[in-house]
Amino acid sequence: MHKKLFIPGPTEVRDDVLAKLSTRQIGHRSKEFQQLYTSIVEKLKKVLYTEKTILLSTSSGTGLMEMATRNFIGKRALSTICGAFSDRWSKIATANGKEFDAIETEWGKHVPTDEIDKALATGKYDSLLYTANETSTGVRNPIEELAEVMKKYPDVVWCVDAVSAMGGDLYKVDELGVDFILASTQKAFALPSGMAIGVVSDKAIERAKQVPNRGYYFDLMTFLKYCARNQTPTTPVIPHFFALDYQLSKILDEGMENRYNRHLAMAEYVRTWAKQYFDLFPEPGYESVTLTAVANTRGINVAQLNEKLGERGKTISNGYGNLKEKTFRIAHMGDLTLDEIKELLNDIEEILGL
Ligand SMILES: *Cc1c(COP(=O)(O)O)cnc(C)c1O
Repeated sequence: MHKKLFIPGPTEVRDDVLAKLSTRQIGHRSKEFQQLYTSIVEKLKKVLYTEKTILLSTSSGTGLMEMATRNFIGKRALSTICGAFSDRWSKIATANGKEFDAIETEWGKHVPTDEIDKALATGKYDSLLYTANETSTGVRNPIEELAEVMKKYPDVVWCVDAVSAMGGDLYKVDELGVDFILASTQKAFALPSGMAIGVVSDKAIERAKQVPNRGYYFDLMTFLKYCARNQTPTTPVIPHFFALDYQLSKILDEGMENRYNRHLAMAEYVRTWAKQYFDLFPEPGYESVTLTAVANTRGINVAQLNEKLGERGKTISNGYGNLKEKTFRIAHMGDLTLDEIKELLNDIEEILGL
């Protein structure tokens, strides 16, 4: 039996979207491919409220994080850490021999904007690595607030990992003024894994031109050369291109604001439920729109709960790393509906005898 995915990636993919993955292959240097590429780019610009350059990468989201560190860190980066996924920025910067300092906050807390402001004011940094939605703790960082502060730093290239939020939570990319924002397809876009989406500003492009050793697979200059022809540098994951084009039409039919409101309604429902029976793990006011990290205040056996849910054809996520039994995470992202969330929570209540 298939277990419906209420985990923060990969997320549940609808049958009609899955079917698009078995579209017959076309040549990636053909005119048909260029049309498909153009169609995806045009739709993504609407979904992300941007006129900036769209990048389509055959990699998971982490690949585009590597692109950011290789292409945009010239001098020294400021990295921000509030959980396991935001920590990945620092790991990638280290692995690529890049200089950086980190601001680190306790798990469950957000990254304070004033601390970023103070650090950037020293003039030591030419790039900022930030995480929109920390998937390990269910924290949504205050990106809109940071956007105001970043206006003071026109020489800093601001990179945002929005992997577990883009396509569900609302990011008006040009309004925010981010220089590089990335996501994977297997989270709020509700497609299988294997492809990543990025948006890059002209400022970031100018920076990359000055940075040596950009590598090969993720050299932004190579991407741009092929972007201009509505192609990808290497053979892309063509089945995903068909499915993404189809899924973006569905997203635009729903309307991105409506999609965001559906996510918010699911989030609010789960938060209320969590507060009734358990508690929320993230600090108040910074809860994610796409997943809820529930504090396991009753000390329930999360693995056992998930096993029982499995018998009912559903699965949720345990806590991440050290939080394995201290929290459990319910993802409400992608194409899931409020009714499906209600059914899940009802099952949990029955299983736990709440
Ligand atoms: C899932 C996730 C990643 C990793 O994405 P991949 O597509 O597996 O590389 C990175 N950052 C965040 C915030 C995530 O949720």
